[in-house]
Amino acid sequence: MPTPAADLGAAPTTVVYVMGAGRSGSTLLERMLGEIPGFVTAGELIGLFRWIAVDDELCGCGTRFSQCPFWQSVGRRAFGGWDEARVAEIAALQRRVARQRHLPRLAAPALAGASFRADLARYGEVYRQLYRAIGDEAGAQAVVDASKWPAQVLALRNRPGIDLRVLHLVRDVRGVAYSWAKTGVVRPQSTSDALPELSSVPAARTASAWTAVQAEAGLLTATTAHATTIRYEDLVADPRGTLTAALSRVGFPPATAQDLPHVSGRTVTLTAGHGVGGNPSRFTTGVVELRLDDAWHEQLARRDRLVATAIGLPALARHRYLGRSSRSVAL
Ligand SMILES: [Zn+2]
Repeated sequence: MPTPAADLGAAPTTVVYVMGAGRSGSTLLERMLGEIPGFVTAGELIGLFRWIAVDDELCGCGTRFSQCPFWQSVGRRAFGGWDEARVAEIAALQRRVARQRHLPRLAAPALAGASFRADLARYGEVYRQLYRAIGDEAGAQAVVDASKWPAQVLALRNRPGIDLRVLHLVRDVRGVAYSWAKTGVVRPQSTSDALPELSSVPAARTASAWTAVQAEAGLLTATTAHATTIRYEDLVADPRGTLTAALSRVGFPPATAQDLPHVSGRTVTLTAGHGVGGNPSRFTTGVVELRLDDAWHEQLARRDRLVATAIGLPALARHRYLGRSSRSVAL
């Protein structure tokens, strides 16, 4: 892996990492962050080496990854290009480091083997180069990465050259379960038949995965220097207030946290960017009126609602989804 000596002494790249369970509104949050002056969103970088580059998926700008000038330039800056063998090597490294089953070793690398620690250092170096290249190419001071995985936070926090700010995004598990239960949701990023649709998942499985993510995310939020939690429902109800408060809590100065020219009341103006991965809203541009996606109240089957509520109970309570004023209390 090349290590450009010239930038080793440079200031770390500020990275705003969106952490949480799938279907929690991370694409919306990530794109809202990406519109802040001085910020750029890269999308869900976790898939970059594993399927986005390999399958040549569509970038947020609408062109194939291999044809997008932004990503081609980022690749040259970071790794000398998207050489197939190098992409495969980094994907393999990612599988050895940033996975949920490696959480114990990530949490206590001193107790892990020397080869794991070496992989962890190399992985941090790959991401240092990648984040730096994205920031430099965009001329941005902060790079938004909506990869969601908690394991990635453990792998990248405290790494040289990466100043990680973590936003844990949580959404009512019953809304998440309803979203995952839908069938026929097309992935517009796909350029082949490999992954034409987002998969449909039963409520119990969704709730179990959601609960595990909330437990990990809660621990990480409590133990990471710059980390906080945002509720999707609050983001939609009061985007300006929620974003400003969250950015302040992770250490951004008031001038940055309050500079949201694209947010007005409950509308946000979104432009096309170069974010990769994410849900179909990746390609929505223009003035977007935010509204709470709460169809689950009427349309999630009663049995699925009970199952999701029972499994998610501790985290539902912790994130105030069971209060008397919340519609979420209804069973
Ligand atoms: Zn692009």
